[in-house]
Amino acid sequence: MSTPKPQHAPMEQFPVAGNELLVGGRPISEVVEQAGGTPCYLYDSAVMTARVAALRAALPRGIHLHYAMKANPMPAVVNHLAALVDGLDVASAGELEVALASGTRPGDISFAGPGKRDSELEAAVMAGIIVNLESEGELERITAIGERLGRTPVVSVRVNPAFELKASGMKMGGGPKQFGVDEERVPEMLREIAARGLDWRGLHIFSGSQNLRPEAIVEAQEQTFELALRLAADAQAPLRWLNIGGGFGIPYFPGEAWLDLAPIGENLERLLPRVREALPEAEVVIELGRYLVGPAGLYVCRVIDRKVSRGEVFLVTDGGLHHHLAASGNFGQVIRKNYPVAIANRMDSTETEPVSIVGPLCTPLDLLASRMELPRAEIGDLVAIYQSGAYGLTASPRAFLSHPDAGEMMV
Ligand SMILES: *Cc1c(COP(=O)(O)O)cnc(C)c1O
Repeated sequence: MSTPKPQHAPMEQFPVAGNELLVGGRPISEVVEQAGGTPCYLYDSAVMTARVAALRAALPRGIHLHYAMKANPMPAVVNHLAALVDGLDVASAGELEVALASGTRPGDISFAGPGKRDSELEAAVMAGIIVNLESEGELERITAIGERLGRTPVVSVRVNPAFELKASGMKMGGGPKQFGVDEERVPEMLREIAARGLDWRGLHIFSGSQNLRPEAIVEAQEQTFELALRLAADAQAPLRWLNIGGGFGIPYFPGEAWLDLAPIGENLERLLPRVREALPEAEVVIELGRYLVGPAGLYVCRVIDRKVSRGEVFLVTDGGLHHHLAASGNFGQVIRKNYPVAIANRMDSTETEPVSIVGPLCTPLDLLASRMELPRAEIGDLVAIYQSGAYGLTASPRAFLSHPDAGEMMV
């Protein structure tokens, strides 16, 4: 007996009617036309709204939810989410501009990232947002900038914890890292911040990303609170802001399942009273990017050639890795696996075949699906890649081979 092949998790966020995938309740072929044709990214605002609602329902009341904009900085997406969440996390002055334009209060915007340039620190200090300091050097520079501008910088310290988030797609804490200040050096840093009279808000502890194991997230959150309580205990001022990161993943590949939020919510419910008692002034923030927007996005391209090479079928499309590096497997994957894919105008078709879907680039890396069993497709059909709302267009090498850019539309 052979073990069954692992399958993709069900992608039920986009319903099907009349053989077509529906986006924003309308047939995808229509929406694509409105977006200016293929290739394009389509983002469904109702799916984002539902993601936020599901999180709110699962997490304890009073947890603040922030959107990490680098997952998808499209202004329409940011504006939609800004109205639903409690704050935004930016990673550059460019993102900060979009965040401020969304009407989000500066006190609800935080700025993390190693290598903030002086001009970016100036913009942040002028706007009065919370700057997550990533190093002692950054503290030096922001102090000088504050003095020069006659403004008191609002800061928090990003901590590089001694622990790491287990089973995480991308680790951002533990061991030597370019992110944050090593936890053992934080007490001294907090003394410096107080001595310089900066407006210290609290701590940012973000240990990893794309985690699908609730028990690993629960453990990281426990350790994060422990660490925060320890560091806050000998701080010079009460801690008012505690960003415990996020790391909630979404299923991309065969064998992965949607994250169960229930154990995470229950654990936070259990941990919060102690945190509230020890840190009565602290706003507890969870920051999420892909969890909020990933499932809401589709990357859509069109079949422009169908060829058979030594018995294998290739669908050649007008889209590829230059728009969607992650789906090609070249954005941090060790072993390439297929994203969930549909032939979006043949959803009811029962005649399937194994196909590889490729883009127009002259490199074998330009692969959107490898030997997937999909409905038989013809020239002109629409290929839709699910889970593409995060780390899509802006995380891709768009200038590579000088093909036209992909459109983007939120419906
Ligand atoms: C990238 C990043 C996030 C978002 O990560 P997701 O996996 O998209 O949720 C959150 N916080 C910080 C500091 C980040 O760098």
